[in-house]
Parts: sequence; structure tokens; C-alpha cells
Amino acid sequence: MRPRIYVAYTGGTIGMTATEHGFAPEPGWLRGPIEALIEASRDEPPHVEFDEFDPIIDSSNATPRTWSRIASALWDRRDDFDGFVVLHGTDTMAYTASALSFLLPGFGKPVVITGSQVPMSVEGSDGQQNLIRALGVAGGDAIHEVSLLFGSKLLRGNRATKVDAAGFDAFDSPSFPPLGRLNPSIRYDTRIAPPAPQGPRLLRCGLAHVAAVRLFPGFEARVIESLCRPPLEGLVIEAYGAGNGPSSDAAFLGAIEAATAAGIVVVVVTQCLRGSVAPGAYASGSAMILAGAVPGFDMTSEAALTKLAVLLGEGIPSSTVAEMMQADLAGELTHLG
Ligand code: ASP
Repeated sequence: MRPRIYVAYTGGTIGMTATEHGFAPEPGWLRGPIEALIEASRDEPPHVEFDEFDPIIDSSNATPRTWSRIASALWDRRDDFDGFVVLHGTDTMAYTASALSFLLPGFGKPVVITGSQVPMSVEGSDGQQNLIRALGVAGGDAIHEVSLLFGSKLLRGNRATKVDAAGFDAFDSPSFPPLGRLNPSIRYDTRIAPPAPQGPRLLRCGLAHVAAVRLFPGFEARVIESLCRPPLEGLVIEAYGAGNGPSSDAAFLGAIEAATAAGIVVVVVTQCLRGSVAPGAYASGSAMILAGAVPGFDMTSEAALTKLAVLLGEGIPSSTVAEMMQADLAGELTHLG
């Protein structure tokens, strides 16, 4: 039977056309080329429902409301379709993919997020190939989680990060193996266990106020002090290496202590592309944990930020969120033994 696939077109380069200020989404433009592409590409094309969001956006303009809106659109159609494709800009695609994995726990059907580096309105676009491949994964029976397909890789959505501003292999998941590789047909890695099963739910992400900061030599405590004021509820610190920071700066540690005492959840992740926060490995890392921060292990900054936003947006008490941030909820985190 032909799979039924819902395609949510949220914006991004894939459907952009040239304007005098550079590429921008053009309402109504993408439907025609996509319908033609689907009809031309297979003997028996999937049954596709194409839904253009209003407005379609450059994903640099995405907010947590965007994540919620996409999650609700998928949830409302969960029973009517076999698979789901989300067309999205690449700039914040990893955030949306992560957010969807937390907003739709146990969704149980393929959700594939993709887009392109070159608009389909321009010759040599990667959009056609990414879309056709995403439809193949969404209509198949191998992956029932939120994934991100781009270029030659199918990645777990909440492990992905954008690694190239222009190249066709724009995403990677350096701390987690690809779910599949495309060359040109897909080869799934059958050794990868899916996220732990749970009943399907839609979490309605409220407007939790969260932020992320990247440490650098000379980082001043007042950056944390000025961020950690109402309405902020959660902070991701992108720390050095195994989760280290300026432990000889009493004001820095004091700022973390004051933030966590005020109920702000402070999560430490690593700036490194690979590896994990290793609590206790260095005294310079332990100091932040002793001050009240919690380790995010090998979560990407995108996964940590969206997970914080979703959990705090649910109204879960901060002490519980602090524990949940250290647990694997949707395949986003691994505790290395
Ligand atoms: N600025 C674009 C966006 O994120 C980039 C892209 O789609 O590749 O919407």
C-alpha cells in the first residue's frame, strides 16, 4: 500500500527565491516543484499531503513557539499518516529536531526533518535529493523516531548539530553514530537501539525562559549574574573539555550558586564536538557541580537547551528538571561507564 506522508513546510532555503536582499521564503512557490518531483520520481509515489505553514520563515527567526506549532501539527495528524517530513531551514534545524523529540515523546512514527543548502529554485540544489530521501525514510518501516536527514547521513534528531555553513553534508552527530548512510540508497545501522519506548504524548512547550553561554578565557561572572534574573529559568553552560570552568574565580562559582539557589536549573555541557562531561574528572569541573550545576554528559548544546525549555515549560519543578536533565529521555544522552 502507498504510504501516507504529511509534509510540513515551515520555511528555509529549500523553498526560497532570490530577492534584492538575498534569498527569502516565497509563499506558494514550493508546492508546484514538489508535487512535480514526487510524481516524476517513482513508479508508485507515496500519497503526500503538503502543508505550507503561514508564515514560512527563515529558521533564524524560529522560537519555541515554532517548535510547539510543528509538534502540534504532527500530533493532530498522528493517526492519519504513516510518516512525517518537516521541511525546515538549516540554521536552527538541530534545535527544532531536538525540541520535537522532547515535545513528542513516544510518537512512534517516522518524523524526518530536512531542507537544503541551495534553494530548489536554483540549479544544482540539494533539495530534491534530500526531500526524496526523506520521503523514503518517512514512508519506510525502519526508524520510528525524530531524525534529521541531510546529504549522505540520517542522524538522530537530538544528536545532530550543524557543522557546515555551505556544504551539502551540513550536519553531523559527532558523539553518536548515524542512524543510516545514503550512498545513494539508504543503509540503516541496525545495531542502534531506538529511544526507550513510552506512550505517545504531546507536551505543550510553554514559554520557558532559557539561555546558553559559552565559556572563554576571561569570562566574567557578571555575564551569569546578569542573565540569571527573572524570568530566566534554565541556563546551559558550554564548558571546556570534560566540563571544566574557571574554578579559581570565586565570583563565577558564586554566580552559579546564587542562580541554582534561586531555582534556576544550570546544566553543563562540553564545547567539544565529541565526548562527554565527566563529573569528578577535574577539580575545575567538580567546582561547578558543587556550586549546584548538573552535568549534561554528552548532550549537544541544542539538545540541552531545548530539553530545558520543554521540561521547564511543562511546569515541572526545577529540582525534578535538574534530575531529568541527567537522564536519557529520548536517546539524547549516554552515560559513559
Ligand atoms: N537561513 C536559512 C534558514 O535556516 C538557511 C537554510 O535553510 O539553509 O532558514
